[in-house]
Amino acid sequence: MRQNAASCHVAIVGAGPYGLAAAAHLRAQNVETRIFGEPMEFWKRHMPRGMFLRSGAHASSLADPHNRLGLDRYRSLHGIPPAKPVPIEHFVGYGEWFQQQAVPDLDRRAVAHLAANSHGFRVRLADGEEFHAGRVVVATGISPFAHRPPQFADLPASLVSHSFDHADLRGFAGQRVAVLGAGQSALESAALLHEAGTDVEVIARAPATYMIPDVAYSGLSRSVRHLLSPLARPPFDIMGPRFVSWLIAWPRLFRHIPRPLQNFLTARAVRPAGASWLAPRLTPIPITAGRTILGAKPVGSRLRLQLTDGSKRIVDHLLLGTGYRVDISRYSFLAPALGQAVRTREGYPELAVGFESSVPGLHFVGTPAAGTFGPVCRFVVGTSYVARELTRHISTRSRNGHTSSHRTAKPESRATLNASYGD
Ligand SMILES: Cc1cc2nc3c(=O)[nH]c(=O)nc-3n(C[C@H](O)[C@H](O)[C@H](O)COP(=O)(O)OP(=O)(O)OC[C@H]3O[C@@H](n4cnc5c(N)ncnc54)[C@H](O)[C@@H]3O)c2cc1C
Repeated sequence: MRQNAASCHVAIVGAGPYGLAAAAHLRAQNVETRIFGEPMEFWKRHMPRGMFLRSGAHASSLADPHNRLGLDRYRSLHGIPPAKPVPIEHFVGYGEWFQQQAVPDLDRRAVAHLAANSHGFRVRLADGEEFHAGRVVVATGISPFAHRPPQFADLPASLVSHSFDHADLRGFAGQRVAVLGAGQSALESAALLHEAGTDVEVIARAPATYMIPDVAYSGLSRSVRHLLSPLARPPFDIMGPRFVSWLIAWPRLFRHIPRPLQNFLTARAVRPAGASWLAPRLTPIPITAGRTILGAKPVGSRLRLQLTDGSKRIVDHLLLGTGYRVDISRYSFLAPALGQAVRTREGYPELAVGFESSVPGLHFVGTPAAGTFGPVCRFVVGTSYVARELTRHISTRSRNGHTSSHRTAKPESRATLNASYGD
Protein backbone atom coordinates (compact mmCIF):
# COMPACT_ATOMS: atom_id res chain seq x y z
CA MET A 1 0.00 0.00 0.00
CA ARG A 2 1.55 3.30 -1.10
CA GLN A 3 1.35 6.21 1.31
CA ASN A 4 1.04 9.70 -0.05
CA ALA A 5 1.68 12.50 2.43
CA ALA A 6 -0.52 14.81 0.40
CA SER A 7 -3.84 15.72 1.88
CA CYS A 8 -6.60 17.80 0.45
CA HIS A 9 -9.43 19.84 1.79
CA VAL A 10 -12.21 18.32 -0.31
CA ALA A 11 -12.12 15.06 -2.29
CA ILE A 12 -14.90 14.48 -4.81
CA VAL A 13 -15.52 10.85 -5.71
CA GLY A 14 -17.02 10.61 -9.20
CA ALA A 15 -16.73 12.74 -12.32
CA GLY A 16 -20.22 12.65 -13.77
CA PRO A 17 -22.37 15.78 -14.07
CA TYR A 18 -22.66 16.24 -10.28
CA GLY A 19 -19.00 15.70 -9.41
CA LEU A 20 -17.83 17.97 -12.24
CA ALA A 21 -20.27 20.77 -11.37
CA ALA A 22 -19.37 20.55 -7.68
CA ALA A 23 -15.62 20.69 -8.45
CA ALA A 24 -16.06 23.71 -10.75
CA HIS A 25 -17.96 25.61 -8.06
CA LEU A 26 -15.61 24.72 -5.18
CA ARG A 27 -12.52 25.68 -7.21
CA ALA A 28 -14.13 29.01 -8.11
CA GLN A 29 -14.35 29.72 -4.38
CA ASN A 30 -10.69 28.74 -3.93
CA VAL A 31 -11.61 25.65 -1.97
CA GLU A 32 -8.79 23.14 -2.51
CA THR A 33 -10.50 20.26 -4.28
CA ARG A 34 -9.41 17.00 -5.89
CA ILE A 35 -11.79 15.04 -8.10
CA PHE A 36 -11.51 11.35 -9.00
CA GLY A 37 -12.98 9.03 -11.60
CA GLU A 38 -13.40 8.56 -15.31
CA PRO A 39 -15.33 11.58 -16.65
CA MET A 40 -18.89 10.85 -17.82
CA GLU A 41 -18.30 7.11 -17.48
CA PHE A 42 -21.92 6.20 -16.79
CA TRP A 43 -23.03 7.99 -19.95
CA LYS A 44 -20.25 6.42 -22.05
CA ARG A 45 -20.47 2.82 -20.84
CA HIS A 46 -23.99 2.25 -19.51
CA MET A 47 -26.29 4.03 -21.92
CA PRO A 48 -26.93 2.82 -25.46
CA ARG A 49 -25.37 4.26 -28.57
CA GLY A 50 -28.04 6.15 -30.54
CA MET A 51 -29.87 7.29 -27.38
CA PHE A 52 -31.26 10.80 -27.02
CA LEU A 53 -31.59 12.75 -23.80
CA ARG A 54 -35.03 12.99 -22.30
CA SER A 55 -34.17 16.41 -20.91
CA GLY A 56 -34.20 19.26 -23.40
CA ALA A 57 -31.08 21.31 -24.11
CA HIS A 58 -32.27 24.00 -21.65
CA ALA A 59 -32.11 21.40 -18.83
CA SER A 60 -28.94 19.58 -19.90
CA SER A 61 -26.14 21.99 -19.02
CA LEU A 62 -23.78 21.20 -16.18
CA ALA A 63 -23.74 24.07 -13.72
CA ASP A 64 -20.64 26.23 -13.86
CA PRO A 65 -20.11 29.19 -11.57
CA HIS A 66 -19.60 31.75 -14.34
CA ASN A 67 -22.25 30.51 -16.76
CA ARG A 68 -19.67 30.15 -19.52
CA LEU A 69 -19.68 26.38 -19.97
CA GLY A 70 -23.23 25.64 -21.08
CA LEU A 71 -24.25 23.04 -23.67
CA ASP A 72 -25.16 25.79 -26.15
CA ARG A 73 -21.68 27.35 -25.90
CA TYR A 74 -20.05 23.95 -26.45
CA ARG A 75 -22.17 23.35 -29.52
CA SER A 76 -21.51 26.76 -31.03
CA LEU A 77 -17.73 26.56 -30.35
CA HIS A 78 -17.57 23.15 -32.01
CA GLY A 79 -19.89 23.94 -34.92
CA ILE A 80 -22.48 21.42 -33.73
CA PRO A 81 -25.95 22.48 -34.85
CA PRO A 82 -28.61 22.51 -32.11
CA ALA A 83 -30.50 19.24 -32.15
CA LYS A 84 -33.73 18.37 -30.41
CA PRO A 85 -33.71 15.95 -28.68
CA VAL A 86 -30.05 16.10 -27.66
CA PRO A 87 -28.06 13.06 -28.94
CA ILE A 88 -26.05 11.26 -26.27
CA GLU A 89 -22.77 11.74 -28.15
CA HIS A 90 -23.24 15.52 -28.01
CA PHE A 91 -23.82 15.32 -24.29
CA VAL A 92 -20.82 13.06 -23.61
CA GLY A 93 -18.58 15.32 -25.73
CA TYR A 94 -19.97 18.30 -23.87
CA GLY A 95 -19.31 16.73 -20.45
CA GLU A 96 -15.71 15.91 -21.40
CA TRP A 97 -15.19 19.46 -22.70
CA PHE A 98 -16.65 20.84 -19.46
CA GLN A 99 -14.17 18.72 -17.50
CA GLN A 100 -11.21 19.92 -19.59
CA GLN A 101 -12.24 23.55 -19.06
CA ALA A 102 -13.24 23.42 -15.39
CA VAL A 103 -11.07 20.68 -13.85
CA PRO A 104 -8.28 19.81 -16.30
CA ASP A 105 -6.25 18.14 -13.53
CA LEU A 106 -8.96 15.56 -12.76
CA ASP A 107 -7.49 12.27 -11.53
CA ARG A 108 -9.00 9.36 -13.47
CA ARG A 109 -8.23 6.78 -10.81
CA ALA A 110 -11.21 5.28 -8.98
CA VAL A 111 -11.57 5.51 -5.22
CA ALA A 112 -11.34 1.99 -3.84
CA HIS A 113 -11.83 2.62 -0.13
CA LEU A 114 -13.05 5.42 2.10
CA ALA A 115 -12.85 5.44 5.89
CA ALA A 116 -12.87 8.10 8.59
CA ASN A 117 -9.74 9.15 10.44
CA SER A 118 -8.83 11.81 12.93
CA HIS A 119 -8.35 14.46 10.23
CA GLY A 120 -11.48 13.70 8.32
CA PHE A 121 -11.21 10.80 5.90
CA ARG A 122 -8.67 8.36 4.58
CA VAL A 123 -9.05 7.81 0.84
CA ARG A 124 -7.44 4.88 -0.94
CA LEU A 125 -7.24 4.90 -4.73
CA ALA A 126 -7.48 1.86 -7.01
CA ASP A 127 -3.68 1.63 -7.34
CA GLY A 128 -3.22 1.64 -3.57
CA GLU A 129 -2.20 5.28 -3.10
CA GLU A 130 -3.65 6.80 0.05
CA PHE A 131 -4.23 10.36 1.21
CA HIS A 132 -6.31 12.33 3.70
CA ALA A 133 -9.26 14.54 2.90
CA GLY A 134 -10.95 16.97 5.25
CA ARG A 135 -14.27 16.44 3.52
CA VAL A 136 -15.54 13.99 0.94
CA VAL A 137 -18.30 14.54 -1.60
CA VAL A 138 -19.75 11.26 -2.86
CA ALA A 139 -20.90 11.87 -6.46
CA THR A 140 -20.84 8.28 -7.68
CA GLY A 141 -24.29 8.09 -9.25
CA ILE A 142 -26.57 5.07 -9.53
CA SER A 143 -24.41 2.35 -11.09
CA PRO A 144 -24.62 -0.12 -8.16
CA PHE A 145 -28.38 0.35 -7.88
CA ALA A 146 -29.58 -1.27 -11.14
CA HIS A 147 -32.72 -3.16 -10.10
CA ARG A 148 -32.90 -6.80 -11.20
CA PRO A 149 -36.14 -8.45 -9.99
CA PRO A 150 -35.41 -11.58 -7.94
CA GLN A 151 -37.21 -14.00 -10.30
CA PHE A 152 -34.36 -13.49 -12.79
CA ALA A 153 -31.49 -13.66 -10.31
CA ASP A 154 -30.18 -17.11 -11.23
CA LEU A 155 -30.28 -16.70 -14.99
CA PRO A 156 -27.11 -16.18 -17.01
CA ALA A 157 -26.21 -12.79 -18.47
CA SER A 158 -26.49 -14.27 -21.96
CA LEU A 159 -30.25 -14.68 -21.36
CA VAL A 160 -31.12 -11.77 -19.05
CA SER A 161 -29.45 -8.41 -18.72
CA HIS A 162 -30.26 -4.93 -17.41
CA SER A 163 -30.24 -1.85 -19.64
CA PHE A 164 -27.26 -0.74 -17.49
CA ASP A 165 -25.21 -3.58 -19.03
CA HIS A 166 -25.27 -2.17 -22.56
CA ALA A 167 -23.50 0.61 -24.43
CA ASP A 168 -24.68 -0.74 -27.77
CA LEU A 169 -27.82 -2.77 -28.51
CA ARG A 170 -27.00 -3.59 -32.13
CA GLY A 171 -25.63 -7.00 -31.14
CA PHE A 172 -29.24 -8.20 -30.75
CA ALA A 173 -30.00 -7.79 -34.46
CA GLY A 174 -31.89 -10.79 -35.80
CA GLN A 175 -32.90 -12.05 -32.32
CA ARG A 176 -36.19 -12.06 -30.45
CA VAL A 177 -35.99 -9.87 -27.34
CA ALA A 178 -38.56 -8.99 -24.66
CA VAL A 179 -38.09 -5.68 -22.87
CA LEU A 180 -39.54 -5.42 -19.36
CA GLY A 181 -40.59 -1.92 -18.23
CA ALA A 182 -42.34 1.22 -19.40
CA GLY A 183 -39.91 4.01 -18.49
CA GLN A 184 -37.78 6.02 -20.87
CA SER A 185 -34.93 3.54 -20.77
CA ALA A 186 -37.15 0.52 -21.54
CA LEU A 187 -39.08 2.26 -24.30
CA GLU A 188 -36.04 3.84 -25.95
CA SER A 189 -34.16 0.53 -25.77
CA ALA A 190 -37.11 -1.13 -27.52
CA ALA A 191 -37.06 1.52 -30.25
CA LEU A 192 -33.29 1.14 -30.74
CA LEU A 193 -33.58 -2.67 -30.81
CA HIS A 194 -36.37 -2.53 -33.41
CA GLU A 195 -34.39 -0.09 -35.56
CA ALA A 196 -31.37 -2.43 -35.35
CA GLY A 197 -33.42 -5.31 -36.78
CA THR A 198 -34.46 -7.06 -33.56
CA ASP A 199 -37.89 -8.66 -33.14
CA VAL A 200 -38.90 -6.89 -29.94
CA GLU A 201 -41.90 -6.81 -27.58
CA VAL A 202 -42.36 -4.54 -24.57
CA ILE A 203 -43.98 -6.04 -21.48
CA ALA A 204 -45.12 -3.49 -18.90
CA ARG A 205 -46.90 -3.79 -15.58
CA ALA A 206 -48.57 -0.40 -15.98
CA PRO A 207 -51.97 -0.53 -17.68
CA ALA A 208 -50.72 1.76 -20.46
CA THR A 209 -47.49 3.42 -21.50
CA TYR A 210 -47.41 7.09 -20.69
CA MET A 211 -45.66 9.69 -22.83
CA ILE A 212 -44.74 13.04 -21.31
CA PRO A 213 -46.22 15.77 -23.53
CA ASP A 214 -43.76 18.32 -24.89
CA VAL A 215 -45.59 21.30 -23.42
CA ALA A 216 -42.79 23.22 -21.81
CA TYR A 217 -42.97 26.31 -23.92
CA SER A 218 -45.41 25.38 -26.64
CA GLY A 219 -47.92 28.00 -27.67
CA LEU A 220 -45.95 30.88 -26.18
CA SER A 221 -44.35 33.60 -28.25
CA ARG A 222 -40.62 34.22 -27.87
CA SER A 223 -41.17 37.49 -25.96
CA VAL A 224 -43.64 35.89 -23.54
CA ARG A 225 -41.23 33.01 -23.01
CA HIS A 226 -38.49 35.52 -22.24
CA LEU A 227 -40.73 37.31 -19.75
CA LEU A 228 -41.64 34.05 -18.08
CA SER A 229 -38.15 32.61 -18.12
CA PRO A 230 -37.50 32.81 -14.35
CA LEU A 231 -40.86 31.11 -13.79
CA ALA A 232 -40.56 28.67 -16.67
CA ARG A 233 -37.42 27.16 -15.21
CA PRO A 234 -38.87 23.79 -14.10
CA PRO A 235 -37.99 21.35 -16.87
CA PHE A 236 -41.50 20.12 -17.52
CA ASP A 237 -40.29 17.57 -20.01
CA ILE A 238 -38.50 15.43 -17.43
CA MET A 239 -40.18 16.04 -14.11
CA GLY A 240 -43.74 14.92 -14.69
CA PRO A 241 -46.91 16.98 -14.91
CA ARG A 242 -46.73 20.77 -14.75
CA PHE A 243 -47.98 21.21 -11.18
CA VAL A 244 -45.52 18.56 -9.97
CA SER A 245 -42.63 20.23 -11.80
CA TRP A 246 -43.44 23.51 -10.08
CA LEU A 247 -43.56 21.99 -6.63
CA ILE A 248 -40.34 20.01 -6.90
CA ALA A 249 -38.32 22.78 -8.56
CA TRP A 250 -37.29 24.17 -5.18
CA PRO A 251 -35.28 21.51 -3.32
CA ARG A 252 -34.91 23.64 -0.19
CA LEU A 253 -38.70 23.79 0.07
CA PHE A 254 -39.11 20.11 -0.81
CA ARG A 255 -36.99 19.16 2.19
CA HIS A 256 -39.52 20.73 4.57
CA ILE A 257 -42.80 19.52 3.14
CA PRO A 258 -44.58 16.62 4.89
CA ARG A 259 -43.34 13.16 3.99
CA PRO A 260 -46.62 11.95 2.42
CA LEU A 261 -46.62 14.94 0.04
CA GLN A 262 -42.95 14.33 -0.76
CA ASN A 263 -43.76 10.72 -1.61
CA PHE A 264 -46.72 11.72 -3.75
CA LEU A 265 -44.70 14.29 -5.72
CA THR A 266 -41.78 11.92 -6.19
CA ALA A 267 -44.07 9.14 -7.43
CA ARG A 268 -45.62 11.52 -9.96
CA ALA A 269 -42.29 13.00 -11.05
CA VAL A 270 -40.47 9.76 -11.67
CA ARG A 271 -43.30 7.46 -12.72
CA PRO A 272 -42.44 5.33 -15.75
CA ALA A 273 -42.91 7.45 -18.85
CA GLY A 274 -41.33 8.11 -22.21
CA ALA A 275 -40.53 11.38 -23.96
CA SER A 276 -43.14 12.51 -26.47
CA TRP A 277 -40.66 12.32 -29.39
CA LEU A 278 -40.36 8.57 -28.78
CA ALA A 279 -44.03 7.84 -29.57
CA PRO A 280 -43.77 7.52 -33.40
CA ARG A 281 -40.77 5.20 -33.06
CA LEU A 282 -42.80 2.87 -30.84
CA THR A 283 -45.71 2.50 -33.26
CA PRO A 284 -44.43 -0.70 -34.94
CA ILE A 285 -43.52 -2.36 -31.60
CA PRO A 286 -46.02 -4.63 -29.78
CA ILE A 287 -46.58 -3.38 -26.22
CA THR A 288 -48.18 -5.81 -23.79
CA ALA A 289 -49.40 -3.56 -20.98
CA GLY A 290 -50.96 -4.41 -17.64
CA ARG A 291 -48.96 -7.62 -17.32
CA THR A 292 -45.63 -8.64 -15.97
CA ILE A 293 -43.33 -11.65 -16.03
CA LEU A 294 -43.85 -14.18 -13.24
CA GLY A 295 -40.84 -16.33 -14.04
CA ALA A 296 -38.36 -17.33 -16.70
CA LYS A 297 -36.78 -20.70 -17.54
CA PRO A 298 -33.97 -21.51 -19.96
CA VAL A 299 -35.07 -23.77 -22.82
CA GLY A 300 -31.96 -24.79 -24.73
CA SER A 301 -30.24 -21.55 -25.66
CA ARG A 302 -33.49 -19.58 -25.32
CA LEU A 303 -35.73 -18.39 -22.50
CA ARG A 304 -39.36 -19.20 -21.76
CA LEU A 305 -41.25 -16.36 -20.06
CA GLN A 306 -44.40 -16.95 -18.04
CA LEU A 307 -46.63 -13.85 -17.93
CA THR A 308 -49.21 -12.98 -15.27
CA ASP A 309 -52.09 -13.49 -17.76
CA GLY A 310 -51.03 -17.12 -18.24
CA SER A 311 -49.48 -16.54 -21.66
CA LYS A 312 -45.92 -17.59 -22.53
CA ARG A 313 -43.18 -16.22 -24.74
CA ILE A 314 -40.02 -17.85 -26.08
CA VAL A 315 -37.28 -15.28 -26.55
CA ASP A 316 -33.53 -15.17 -27.14
CA HIS A 317 -33.06 -12.54 -24.47
CA LEU A 318 -34.87 -10.58 -21.77
CA LEU A 319 -33.78 -6.97 -21.32
CA LEU A 320 -34.68 -5.47 -17.95
CA GLY A 321 -35.66 -1.81 -18.16
CA THR A 322 -36.54 -1.98 -14.49
CA GLY A 323 -34.72 1.12 -13.33
CA TYR A 324 -32.57 1.78 -10.29
CA ARG A 325 -33.24 1.57 -6.53
CA VAL A 326 -31.01 3.65 -4.31
CA ASP A 327 -29.29 1.79 -1.47
CA ILE A 328 -26.05 3.44 -0.43
CA SER A 329 -24.91 0.32 1.41
CA ARG A 330 -24.09 -0.91 -2.11
CA TYR A 331 -21.35 1.69 -2.54
CA SER A 332 -18.57 -0.85 -2.11
CA PHE A 333 -15.84 1.76 -1.53
CA LEU A 334 -17.43 2.90 1.76
CA ALA A 335 -15.75 1.16 4.69
CA PRO A 336 -18.48 -0.97 6.30
CA ALA A 337 -18.38 0.97 9.57
CA LEU A 338 -18.57 4.29 7.74
CA GLY A 339 -21.47 3.10 5.59
CA GLN A 340 -23.33 1.94 8.68
CA ALA A 341 -22.75 5.27 10.41
CA VAL A 342 -24.59 7.18 7.69
CA ARG A 343 -28.21 7.54 8.78
CA THR A 344 -30.47 6.42 5.96
CA ARG A 345 -34.13 6.19 5.11
CA GLU A 346 -35.20 3.58 2.56
CA GLY A 347 -31.64 3.36 1.24
CA TYR A 348 -31.16 7.13 0.82
CA PRO A 349 -28.81 9.04 3.13
CA GLU A 350 -30.57 11.55 5.36
CA LEU A 351 -28.97 14.86 4.54
CA ALA A 352 -28.80 18.27 6.15
CA VAL A 353 -28.00 21.68 4.69
CA GLY A 354 -25.05 21.46 2.31
CA PHE A 355 -25.90 17.82 1.50
CA GLU A 356 -24.00 16.73 4.58
CA SER A 357 -24.86 13.31 5.96
CA SER A 358 -25.06 12.28 9.60
CA VAL A 359 -21.29 11.68 9.36
CA PRO A 360 -19.82 15.19 9.59
CA GLY A 361 -17.83 16.13 6.50
CA LEU A 362 -19.34 13.38 4.33
CA HIS A 363 -21.63 14.75 1.60
CA PHE A 364 -23.80 13.00 -0.98
CA VAL A 365 -24.93 14.60 -4.24
CA GLY A 366 -26.91 13.40 -7.26
CA THR A 367 -29.66 10.79 -7.00
CA PRO A 368 -28.87 9.75 -3.39
CA ALA A 369 -29.67 13.35 -2.37
CA ALA A 370 -33.16 12.99 -3.86
CA GLY A 371 -34.40 11.27 -0.69
CA THR A 372 -34.04 14.59 1.14
CA PHE A 373 -34.08 17.28 -1.55
CA GLY A 374 -36.45 15.73 -4.08
CA PRO A 375 -36.39 14.37 -7.63
CA VAL A 376 -34.65 17.40 -9.13
CA CYS A 377 -31.40 15.89 -7.77
CA ARG A 378 -31.83 12.96 -10.15
CA PHE A 379 -31.35 15.11 -13.22
CA VAL A 380 -28.60 17.22 -14.73
CA VAL A 381 -30.71 20.32 -14.20
CA GLY A 382 -30.29 19.84 -10.42
CA THR A 383 -26.51 20.42 -10.63
CA SER A 384 -27.14 24.14 -10.49
CA TYR A 385 -28.81 24.16 -7.08
CA VAL A 386 -26.71 21.36 -5.63
CA ALA A 387 -23.26 22.69 -6.64
CA ARG A 388 -24.13 26.19 -5.43
CA GLU A 389 -25.48 25.09 -2.04
CA LEU A 390 -22.74 22.55 -1.43
CA THR A 391 -20.10 25.18 -2.16
CA ARG A 392 -21.80 27.81 -0.03
CA HIS A 393 -21.86 25.39 2.90
CA ILE A 394 -18.29 24.15 2.56
CA SER A 395 -16.71 27.53 1.89
CA THR A 396 -18.56 29.13 4.82
CA ARG A 397 -17.33 26.41 7.13
CA SER A 398 -13.80 26.74 5.73
CA ARG A 399 -13.81 30.49 6.37
CA ASN A 400 -14.87 29.70 9.93
CA GLY A 401 -11.88 27.37 10.23
CA HIS A 402 -13.70 24.03 10.03
CA THR A 403 -11.76 21.74 7.69
CA SER A 404 -14.37 19.18 8.49
CA SER A 405 -16.65 18.76 11.41
CA HIS A 406 -14.36 16.00 12.67
CA ARG A 407 -11.72 18.62 13.45
CA THR A 408 -14.14 20.49 15.63
CA ALA A 409 -15.16 17.39 17.51
CA LYS A 410 -14.01 17.06 21.10
CA PRO A 411 -10.97 14.77 21.52
CA GLU A 412 -13.01 12.01 23.11
CA SER A 413 -15.64 12.14 20.40
CA ARG A 414 -12.92 12.04 17.73
CA ALA A 415 -11.75 8.79 19.23
CA THR A 416 -15.31 7.54 19.06
CA LEU A 417 -15.54 8.65 15.44
CA ASN A 418 -12.45 6.67 14.53
CA ALA A 419 -13.66 3.66 16.42
CA SER A 420 -17.04 3.73 14.83
CA TYR A 421 -16.31 4.77 11.22
CA GLY A 422 -12.87 3.28 10.60
CA ASP A 423 -12.43 -0.04 8.94
C1 LIG B 1 -31.04 5.61 -19.32
C2 LIG B 1 -30.94 6.91 -18.56
C3 LIG B 1 -31.22 8.10 -19.22
C4 LIG B 1 -31.10 9.31 -18.54
N1 LIG B 1 -31.40 10.47 -19.20
C5 LIG B 1 -31.31 11.65 -18.56
C6 LIG B 1 -31.60 12.87 -19.24
O1 LIG B 1 -31.96 12.90 -20.41
N2 LIG B 1 -31.46 14.03 -18.54
C7 LIG B 1 -31.07 14.06 -17.23
O2 LIG B 1 -30.97 15.14 -16.67
N3 LIG B 1 -30.81 12.91 -16.56
C8 LIG B 1 -30.92 11.72 -17.18
N4 LIG B 1 -30.65 10.55 -16.52
C9 LIG B 1 -30.25 10.61 -15.12
C10 LIG B 1 -28.73 10.71 -15.06
O3 LIG B 1 -28.19 9.49 -14.63
C11 LIG B 1 -28.32 11.81 -14.15
O4 LIG B 1 -28.90 13.02 -14.54
C12 LIG B 1 -26.80 12.07 -14.09
O5 LIG B 1 -26.02 11.09 -14.70
C13 LIG B 1 -26.44 12.18 -12.66
O6 LIG B 1 -25.08 12.55 -12.57
P1 LIG B 1 -24.15 11.98 -11.42
O7 LIG B 1 -22.89 12.75 -11.53
O8 LIG B 1 -24.89 12.02 -10.13
O9 LIG B 1 -23.96 10.45 -11.74
P2 LIG B 1 -23.20 9.71 -12.93
O10 LIG B 1 -23.44 10.38 -14.23
O11 LIG B 1 -23.55 8.27 -12.82
O12 LIG B 1 -21.68 9.89 -12.56
C14 LIG B 1 -21.10 9.22 -11.48
C15 LIG B 1 -19.65 8.99 -11.82
O13 LIG B 1 -19.00 8.44 -10.67
C16 LIG B 1 -18.03 7.55 -11.11
N5 LIG B 1 -17.68 6.64 -10.03
C17 LIG B 1 -18.45 5.67 -9.49
N6 LIG B 1 -17.77 5.04 -8.49
C18 LIG B 1 -16.55 5.65 -8.42
C19 LIG B 1 -15.40 5.46 -7.60
N7 LIG B 1 -15.39 4.52 -6.64
N8 LIG B 1 -14.32 6.25 -7.79
C20 LIG B 1 -14.34 7.22 -8.76
N9 LIG B 1 -15.41 7.44 -9.56
C21 LIG B 1 -16.50 6.66 -9.40
C22 LIG B 1 -18.62 6.87 -12.32
O14 LIG B 1 -17.60 6.44 -13.15
C23 LIG B 1 -19.45 8.00 -12.95
O15 LIG B 1 -18.75 8.64 -14.00
C24 LIG B 1 -30.74 9.32 -17.18
C25 LIG B 1 -30.47 8.12 -16.52
C26 LIG B 1 -30.57 6.93 -17.20
C27 LIG B 1 -30.28 5.65 -16.47
